[in-house]
Amino acid sequence: MAKSRFEYVRQFESHETLLPETYIVVRIDGKKFHEFSKHYNFEKPNDERALKLMNASAKNVVLKYKNDVVLAFGESDEYSFILKKDTSLFKRRRDKLSSLFVSLFTANYVALWSKFFPGTALDYKHLPFFDSRCVCYPNLSTIKDYLCWRYVDTHINNLYNTVFWQLIIKCGLTPQESEQKLCGTLSSDKQEILFTDCGINYNDEPNMFKKGSLVTNKGEVCHIDVVKQIDVLFEGF
Ligand code: ATP
Ligand code: ATP
Ligand code: MG
Ligand code: MG
Ligand code: MG
Ligand code: MG
Ligand code: MG
Repeated sequence: MAKSRFEYVRQFESHETLLPETYIVVRIDGKKFHEFSKHYNFEKPNDERALKLMNASAKNVVLKYKNDVVLAFGESDEYSFILKKDTSLFKRRRDKLSSLFVSLFTANYVALWSKFFPGTALDYKHLPFFDSRCVCYPNLSTIKDYLCWRYVDTHINNLYNTVFWQLIIKCGLTPQESEQKLCGTLSSDKQEILFTDCGINYNDEPNMFKKGSLVTNKGEVCHIDVVKQIDVLFEGF
């Protein structure tokens, strides 16, 4: 094809290739989902439909790129897709990986919305959209720590949110009072408050809430103790 005299402007484009032989994590996170969840009346602290919609969207992304993905892990409005260290997907270009993963995820989230929220139409003034970043991890030990970090974060956030909301729902505390009561408490204190004040045993909470969701590269969704299983999860990768 003949080139126009304008063609030279391509030279202004730059492409970052991610370091070879490193595990790539593409992490996406919902934009202002605090507000989004309020607008669509998500149940607090965990709306099961919303989590299942996140999982179904992630599963479709994983299946599309199953040869390049080790696994994916999600909690709340975020998902991390872990790619094999030798992947050559999109020639390891940062922009391509980040933008194609997040737009494929968002497209699935919108397309699957009505399956998980039947009767609630998406309002064009409150559409779901996500940010995205790529991070490289240089070895097995750091990528395992990355996954454990997200898993432990799920636990810390969920325990806090569960007690915070149950104190409001069951004990009639205001959000300010609930926050004050939890200020400076340890994990064990929170479990104790939940049990004695709200009559709830944290152990009986659903695994999806406590442990987050893991999608294997075969597209299976499970809710397991990631820290305990970390070596098994990366066997062969
Ligand atoms: P940002 O745009 O900076 O990410 P954000 O409002 O999305 O802002 P996050 O730190 O990402 O803030 O937190 C996501 C928020 O979305 C949670 O704090 C919670 O209020 C809400 N949320 C996400 N998923 C659910 C769910 N399944 N059930 C109930 N609330 C949810
Ligand atoms: P890549 O993933 O590399 O971008 P691509 O198939 O999207 O591959 P492009 O160079 O972006 O390649 O070209 C987009 C193609 O999509 C066009 O060549 C055309 O075949 C098709 N296409 C896009 N918009 C329209 C349209 N409005 N009507 C008909 N065909 C279209
Ligand atoms: Mg954020
Ligand atoms: Mg968010
Ligand atoms: Mg988030
Ligand atoms: Mg193109
Ligand atoms: Mg194109």
